[in-house]
Amino acid sequence: MTYLVKNYNRKKISFKYGKGSYLYSKDNKKYLDFVQGIAVNSLGHAHPKLVKTINNQSKKLWHVSNAFQIPEGEKLAKKICQKTFADFVMFQNSGAEATEAAMKVARRYFFSIGKTNKNRILCVKNSFHGRTLAAIYASGSKKMTEGFGPKIGGFDHFEFGDHKSLIKNITKKTAAIMIEPIMGEGGIKVIPDWCLKELRKLCNKKKILLILDEVQSGISRTGNFFSFEKSKIKPDIVPIAKGIGGGFPLGAVLMNKKVASGMVPGTHGSTFGGNPLAMAVGNAVMDIVSSKKFLENVKSLSKYFLFELSNIKESYPQIIKSIRGKGFLIGIQLYKDQTIFIKKLMENKLLTIRASENVIRILPPLNVKKKELDQALKIINKVCKELN
Ligand SMILES: *Cc1c(COP(=O)(O)O)cnc(C)c1O
Repeated sequence: MTYLVKNYNRKKISFKYGKGSYLYSKDNKKYLDFVQGIAVNSLGHAHPKLVKTINNQSKKLWHVSNAFQIPEGEKLAKKICQKTFADFVMFQNSGAEATEAAMKVARRYFFSIGKTNKNRILCVKNSFHGRTLAAIYASGSKKMTEGFGPKIGGFDHFEFGDHKSLIKNITKKTAAIMIEPIMGEGGIKVIPDWCLKELRKLCNKKKILLILDEVQSGISRTGNFFSFEKSKIKPDIVPIAKGIGGGFPLGAVLMNKKVASGMVPGTHGSTFGGNPLAMAVGNAVMDIVSSKKFLENVKSLSKYFLFELSNIKESYPQIIKSIRGKGFLIGIQLYKDQTIFIKKLMENKLLTIRASENVIRILPPLNVKKKELDQALKIINKVCKELN
């Protein structure tokens, strides 16, 4: 009997504690955790520096209202702005809140310059921007919106990878285009750099804001702080969440000066967003994951891992259809049923998670060790062999 609402399809396993890349189950088994709370525990479980940070801060101050100055937030915002395109940051608590706030910022900007009709957001069909009412209609997925009508208006959709469909759906009323540079839930589909460049050009030409949802792909997951960095484009607004809190609920919207100008006092708020406890952890995560050395390590280890995965694909071409992703945001697309594969990996003590298009997602902590990657490769290889 459970008193929890049955809105999740939970595996019959629970954990006593975690350390680094590993989780220890209630029945005393050790699992290599390559889910990490869906790219949330960017530094693995119980990272000593994060434990110390949260302990120290918990003795000083947990929460004060945004009616007052919060120096820890000033500090984190400054760090984020110094490392990225952003001029300003607005803290939230989760990914969906960050994507919704991003849409609010875009609309409010056009409102503030007197273009009140420019308020529609153009998104990719079957993308993922979270589970709030606006976010599910932004995602344009039948499955996610079913039974939750009436429909929230103000969204248009285009087909992934379809330039004609994109152009066709832009109107005078389009305020912003919002995309995931790497579609996470959608099956680890990477938008190529040249596409991002063209998209930026198109947005400039049509005076449309560009929102890049880096909730899953950001915070050094791909070996760059943001997954779009290599394209060298500058978005206008970027919602982040998952990895920035290292396991503590934290989200934020990053933006340039132009769009921030619309967000005058009273336009948006959050009771919890950016409280001292969250900000202390965010600062600690940021200090580690944004260092050059750390990023270089993510790049080289993930390159090795992706190469070895493609070798496994070569050995089992009738099982693995494709290896997708960048850095440690990895998808293995299968021919065989993903459920069986995930179950088999789990029996061999490797935890992974599904995504659309029969993809299993592999999300190691960013500070994963090479020998842990080798252990995972061995297990994946073994399961391929068994299913062959
Ligand atoms: C997970 C995710 C969200 C939603 O984040 P929540 O914290 O679950 O609300 C939004 N956008 C993307 C790209 C995500 O991966």
